[in-house]
Amino acid sequence: NQPVHVIGGGLAGSEAAWQAAESGATVILHEMRPVRTTDAHQTESLAELVCSNSFRSDDYRHNAVGLLHEELRRCNSLIMRAADHHALPAGGALAVDRHGFSDFVSQAIAAHPRIELRREEIAGLPPAEWQNVIIATGPLTSPPLAEAIGSLTGEDALAFFDAIAPIVHGDTIDYDIVWAQSRYDKPGPAGTGADYLNCPMTEQQYNAFVNALLVAPLHEFKEWEKVPYFDGCLPIEVMASRGRETLRHGPMKPVGLTNPRDPLVKPYAIVQLRQDNALGTLWNIVGFQTKMRYGVQADILRMIPGLENAQFARLGGLHRNTFLNSPKVLQPDLTLRADPRLRFAGQVTGVEGYVESTAVGLIAGRLAAAESRGETLPTPPPSTALGALIAHITGGHLEAEAYSGARSFQPMNVNFGLFPPVSITKPEGHVGRWKSTEKTLAKKEAITSRALQDLEAWR
Ligand code: FAD
Repeated sequence: NQPVHVIGGGLAGSEAAWQAAESGATVILHEMRPVRTTDAHQTESLAELVCSNSFRSDDYRHNAVGLLHEELRRCNSLIMRAADHHALPAGGALAVDRHGFSDFVSQAIAAHPRIELRREEIAGLPPAEWQNVIIATGPLTSPPLAEAIGSLTGEDALAFFDAIAPIVHGDTIDYDIVWAQSRYDKPGPAGTGADYLNCPMTEQQYNAFVNALLVAPLHEFKEWEKVPYFDGCLPIEVMASRGRETLRHGPMKPVGLTNPRDPLVKPYAIVQLRQDNALGTLWNIVGFQTKMRYGVQADILRMIPGLENAQFARLGGLHRNTFLNSPKVLQPDLTLRADPRLRFAGQVTGVEGYVESTAVGLIAGRLAAAESRGETLPTPPPSTALGALIAHITGGHLEAEAYSGARSFQPMNVNFGLFPPVSITKPEGHVGRWKSTEKTLAKKEAITSRALQDLEAWR
């Protein structure tokens, strides 16, 4: 049997190597540290946590990342075992002792009889004789490998910076205020002419919004992280600082749109939301990439009419991040369309976060092991957290072509907006009004119960 080559011994790569080896494959894990390091890593340990020591909420009944923890545990995840072993008191969150955690992973990999660890950089495309490769080199993939991947996929399929517009949960938008219409009613490649949701602003609302942007505190860049601003994707606060009218002539221009509730009054400015997932549960605020600090950012975005009660699946940001336009270039089994011997895992596939990177590593490792046995393994259904993430990055339930123009692919944490909707009914014996907080809780419980049931069937 050909060995599985895993490139990158971070969270995804360590999990992938472990899963492939536990499934019976021989694995060679190539990690470049300490021969060459990244701007964020500080040790030579496998699965180093480059920043916070938190795996976020551990509540698997009501939180999507908590659910992902539970699914990973049920799938024999090495990363979760290490995290549980080195957990620190952190309320409902799972926080870990970072050194104990990484040492645990390093030792488990070193002790596995079917894993060989090589400390070397893979500085270009893997040699042709490697037939089963997992690339899990993370957001700080070394430049020679990133360039080689970029030439293989086409320049526009590999991003080096992440200019993120905020994403809103669709069920928190006020549909009494917004209306659906594309500019000049133009149908897009996959659209109807009513593909955008529009939030109208009066002159007074626009001025208050610009004033808030001008004084909002910003995230500072790290020295090595200096991100060049491209005129095509300037942060909104930078646009506002260039002139009071700039936004009104940019992403907030009020042309080609008519508010059906008030057709004679022209809005002074309009914010547009574009559907962000196939299910229509997530909407991104078009052209609203921003460096505003998170708390203040949410408050300022809620000044937009129609978004007063918005909940955000993801807030905006601007980061150093190497990631693929996965829905376009990856197949459902995470292999590259242009060279199917290469499979991708971790943050480089366009998921975001320690746990999410681990999750894609787990699936990639199992798929690669199945391939080395000449078998194919179905990925988990999209009703599970693992499957929802894979569907998000590979375009699961939409044809890949539909993604090429209509949708901007942005890295994302796992969240309930990625799951197929569930229908819920008021519990028998419930007296009085069924409050929206109770409904939300019931919805989350229905999604997480269904996920764990479907995961068991898949396992
Ligand atoms: P990594 O863990 O980065 O692993 C990739 C590995 O590949 C590294 O060990 C690297 O040395 C190696 N490598 C790279 N190129 C090569 C090559 N050519 N040959 C061989 N080896 C190579 N997420 C959170 O949930 N919480 C946070 O607080 C958080 N903070 C972050 C801070 C920064 C500065 C960055 C960049 C990201 C952060 N993330 C955070 C996002 C993400 O979760 C982490 O980057 C996570 O480590 C990604 O896991 P990974 O396995 O995909 O990549």
